Amino acid sequence: MTIQLKELYDTAAIQKLDTAHYMHPFTDHQALGEKGARVMVRGEGIYLWDSEGNKILDGMSGLWCVNVGYGRKSISDAVYRQMETLPFYNSFFNTTNVPAVLLANKLSAISPPQFNHVYFTGSGSEANDTNLRMVRRYWDVLGFKERHTIISRHNSYHGSTVAGASLGGMTDMHAQGGLPIPGIVHIGQPNYLESGRGMTEAEFGIEAASWLEQKILEVGAEKVAAFIGEPVQGAGGVIIPPATYWPEIQRICDKYGILLIADEVICGFGRLGRWFASEMFGIRPDLITFAKGVTSGYIPLGGVLVGDRVADVLIKQGGEFNHGFTYSGHPVACAAALENIRILEEEKLIERVADDTGPYLKQRFAELADHPLVGYADSCGFVAGLNLVRTKADNPHDNVAFDSALGVGMVCRGHMFGNGMIMRAVGDRMIIAPPLVMTREQIDEMITLIRRCLDLTHADIK
Ligand code: PLP
Repeated sequence: MTIQLKELYDTAAIQKLDTAHYMHPFTDHQALGEKGARVMVRGEGIYLWDSEGNKILDGMSGLWCVNVGYGRKSISDAVYRQMETLPFYNSFFNTTNVPAVLLANKLSAISPPQFNHVYFTGSGSEANDTNLRMVRRYWDVLGFKERHTIISRHNSYHGSTVAGASLGGMTDMHAQGGLPIPGIVHIGQPNYLESGRGMTEAEFGIEAASWLEQKILEVGAEKVAAFIGEPVQGAGGVIIPPATYWPEIQRICDKYGILLIADEVICGFGRLGRWFASEMFGIRPDLITFAKGVTSGYIPLGGVLVGDRVADVLIKQGGEFNHGFTYSGHPVACAAALENIRILEEEKLIERVADDTGPYLKQRFAELADHPLVGYADSCGFVAGLNLVRTKADNPHDNVAFDSALGVGMVCRGHMFGNGMIMRAVGDRMIIAPPLVMTREQIDEMITLIRRCLDLTHADIK
């Protein structure tokens, strides 16, 4: 498709206004000010166009969310219809609305069997705030008022609200504003490349899970409310845990009666080839955080799938839970989600990722490991990552990293961006999470683009 956009947008004028008034999330505005932000104006399928008319392959699905791809008219139609009928009503004070009811029922049907209730929020961060309050309330109602500590992991991402950022394990976030708040502690992440030297992956999975048990004993089991983790860490750099990790985490949670929260804001809604990744990692969480892929990002929506163990206590014994958001169960967002889920089902996108395009992406992405800059490449469903290294070794633990001051990941990201490809850099690890609609041919196109940009990066740093 050829689109002539240059004439339509005055990029410099938009950038000037942007710099003057718009504070962006996670952005160094001094650095941005020099070159101005890229202005995205249109999306179709897996592609974006900027205000200069450049076509860009979106390897990150926006921000891990546009699972069904851009430009879905049936979602905008559903949103429009709902806006005309009932643009808003709240679910406080004994009221409800039809899309929220239908969506809660649909989510109960497509999630693992222990989930029969849903608590809606406006985002993943709000959903994790809800989790914190919900698990503490659960233990309070049962009379265990000491059981308030939540264990999370370093380098995890659970959002940007005070509770979300505290649950997360990002040191840069903790460094600003005195986080984490009390009652949240962290253990190491199951990062085989970083910490598994001298062990098989299977051994390391057990070892990394044992850090949870150590922390429980250190804090005192009678004080621990829950453990929270992303099945595959996303923002931390697509950290895919060894297969032994999650079953062992489940065993430890069961042993101490601790609630398990799976944060599936990225992993849910088909990204790993299942509705929810918990199903493939052998865990039975009590709560699942969702957002992003539930509407493919078309309208903000998040929430918590509340398992029977927690729902029974809160609903039957808890009285009123003093918690809620104006936009909990927003009818327009729920209508968008219902249509998004219908598309995922009708086009069998999740099955495709599981059986066809996911394995194909794995194969093609793994080939990048032959590039002189790539020390390690791995993937799971429709997330993947590769490590840029100075020197490669047979054992990836012996790879020699670049001096982080060189910012090689950012150099590579710049080449991607300049050559029509969005790939994110987490340090020197380059990651993707493409829309689930991506075809085999488009995977080939993406791998060619990535390889070209790796070559350019290589030429730059020599
Ligand atoms: N949890 C995870 C795993 C995420 O990746 C994110 C966002 O990237 C969040 C929570 C926060 O979601 P939101 O940005 O919708 O608040």
